[in-house]
Amino acid sequence: MPSDASDSSLTPLALKLRRDIAERGPIPLHDYMEACLYNLQHGYYRTRDPLGRGGDFITAPEISQVFGELVGLWAAQVWMQMGQPQSVRLVELGPGRGTLMADALRAARVMPGFLQSIAVHLVESSEVLREAQKATLAGVPAPIHWHGDIGEVPRGPAIVIANEFFDCLPVRQFVFDGAAEVWRERVVAFEDGAFHLATSSDVAQPPLTAASYGEPRDGDISEHCPGVGPLLAKFVARAGDAPLAALIIDYGYAKPAFGETLQAVRRHRFAELFDAPGETDLTAHVDFSLLARLAENAGFAVFGPMAMGEWLLRLGVEARANQLLASASAEEARAIAQSIARLVDPAQMGALFKILSWTRGISEPPPPFGEHFKGG
Ligand code: SAH
Repeated sequence: MPSDASDSSLTPLALKLRRDIAERGPIPLHDYMEACLYNLQHGYYRTRDPLGRGGDFITAPEISQVFGELVGLWAAQVWMQMGQPQSVRLVELGPGRGTLMADALRAARVMPGFLQSIAVHLVESSEVLREAQKATLAGVPAPIHWHGDIGEVPRGPAIVIANEFFDCLPVRQFVFDGAAEVWRERVVAFEDGAFHLATSSDVAQPPLTAASYGEPRDGDISEHCPGVGPLLAKFVARAGDAPLAALIIDYGYAKPAFGETLQAVRRHRFAELFDAPGETDLTAHVDFSLLARLAENAGFAVFGPMAMGEWLLRLGVEARANQLLASASAEEARAIAQSIARLVDPAQMGALFKILSWTRGISEPPPPFGEHFKGG
């Protein structure tokens, strides 16, 4: 076997994973994804700013300021619905560059008393992005605290926002063996100089079984994100009995189905799963039915999922865009119209991206799910 140092085509993380597999045998796909994203030395979210032109992907708040502004107005409205508590935690999971929070706080100035009541709590695992958040949010009129884990957020009333956070959580995949009528876990092996997917010979039990998906056929894949349950449990424990509202925004599916959604993205293009481990973004579509079910079991009122385009339209994205257009040059106007279309158009982000809200201790539905928004 060649020495690690001589193998210049493999990333440092690939060399480490190759060693791990040589010692212990193939590793679950989940562990591969976890190492690629969170390995302390080489993980994707430990080492870089993945966002924007120079990075690998772009997100809604980076596309248009209107996105964060509407989220800010949403948060201010929910605070009103909570009865205007004098102290509320505005929590964001995975705040990226801090753009959404900056736009949200700017827009929320219109609600008297809201900014005076909030403390911002950012849950962020990346040191690189924490630095970016500090720069973006310098001078905002609210105290800001950083945490590595949602369990560290202090107790009390909370408004929680998460845009493109849940898609980062590693998934397990199970393959149905029709001949033996059993499930087996997908693993990553290293052979003939390359990583590849394999199926463990051990029998496994996926957390969700036929009852929720229909009868499996040979080769069907069941994907499951084991991190969601523990995360939600911590979240509920911190909230105590206080009012709480959450806004989850992500790409994903509303109904469970067999299939795999794990994807690799590098420099704004789809990549192969095993391209440059640690230097490629790996995500999976979010199972909104799982998030909704877990939140319901925890005693929350659950709203959605609703297509993001519809959610934005109902919150008045067009009126806000028109305000911006009024003072824009022709070139700026084209750019504004394009970015709003990108968020709203079902053929772009408007349908794949979805919104899920859950609340507790609030009698009214959060906007735009209330009475005067029929069908919400
Ligand atoms: N919400 C931002 C960024 C999305 S990218 C936006 O819309 O632009 C995912 C974000 O979640 C990054 O900030 C990343 O560092 C953070 N993140 C990913 N996994 C995390 C984890 N397990 N704990 C805390 N933060 C995490």
